[in-house]
Amino acid sequence: VAKNLGRSNVQVFHPAMLQATHERFTILEELRQAIPAGQLRVHYQPLVSLQTSTIIGAEALVRWNHPDRGLLYPDYFIGIAEESGLVVDIGEWMIKAVAAQLGDWTEVLEDRDFAVRINLSAAESRAPGLADLIDRTLAEHAVPAERFIVEITETSLMTDPEASSANLLGLRKLGVGVEIDDFGTGYSSISYLRKLPAQAVKMDSSLIQDIVSDPRQLKFVAAVLQLIEAAGLLSVAEGIETADQARLLTRMGCDYGQGYFFGRPAEASVMAGLIGKGLPSLRV
Ligand code: C2E
Ligand code: MG
Ligand code: MG
Ligand code: MG
Repeated sequence: VAKNLGRSNVQVFHPAMLQATHERFTILEELRQAIPAGQLRVHYQPLVSLQTSTIIGAEALVRWNHPDRGLLYPDYFIGIAEESGLVVDIGEWMIKAVAAQLGDWTEVLEDRDFAVRINLSAAESRAPGLADLIDRTLAEHAVPAERFIVEITETSLMTDPEASSANLLGLRKLGVGVEIDDFGTGYSSISYLRKLPAQAVKMDSSLIQDIVSDPRQLKFVAAVLQLIEAAGLLSVAEGIETADQARLLTRMGCDYGQGYFFGRPAEASVMAGLIGKGLPSLRV
């Protein structure tokens, strides 16, 4: 192929690029095996109500326990999974794993308000039968739909608005929640915010990061929070790492918070401990 492109294009085949392509191919092949081989894991990160200082749920985050490379994070493989369509299989695995976990937690949860969020990729959000799959899987483990929430980005919603709206509507009918993820990173439209088929908006950590040191950023986040409230939606702040950030967001009326300050993503057993005992550092 290089020959056909002519001499001036030879540098296209830089060894580093070739290696990168080869590596992506290897990752993809290994990832295909990862599901049947039982190498995927779910980590759970707590979400807290900033106003009442209680745990109100968790986000389920996929991990890949690679036989040679150890525990791998989604940044390493979700992009490749998305390009190949494999992300839909990973999503199906996540739905089943989380439903089974919620089933196991029935006693721990008692009648507490607690819902687990899972991330939907664009391909999943428009996949036919998504609501049916979630409905069947929750029923199989006797999990109420109210314990299950899907997170979707605006960008995903935009790739096929009709198909994804139909799916989200189907989920809403079941009682499954819908939340907008990574708000503030894509092309957010103010008028669209009011029409979103969602109950909550998660402000991306990039919005939260500098609120303590930058008064203008703080004012901006306050305005975003008012906008979310005016749209009739609940607000969630992602990436809260310090007590000062938590305090400011609580004072501004942000409903929920998530971040290393409250707890890092961890194995299900850690989450179960938090549900039972609560977070020691919760008062902000
Ligand atoms: P996300 O949905 O926005 O998830 C939040 C990410 O922020 C997680 O990264 C979480 O570990 C990290 N995080 C939480 N608190 C803090 C904090 O205080 N500081 C900092 N710096 N980071 C914090 P993670 O687990 O690496 O996941 C990255 C992204 O991968 C997720 O972003 C989501 O878009 C995607 N992802 C994760 N699990 C799945 C999945 O099962 N399916 C799909 N389609 N995507 C997933
Ligand atoms: Mg998320
Ligand atoms: Mg996010
Ligand atoms: Mg993200």
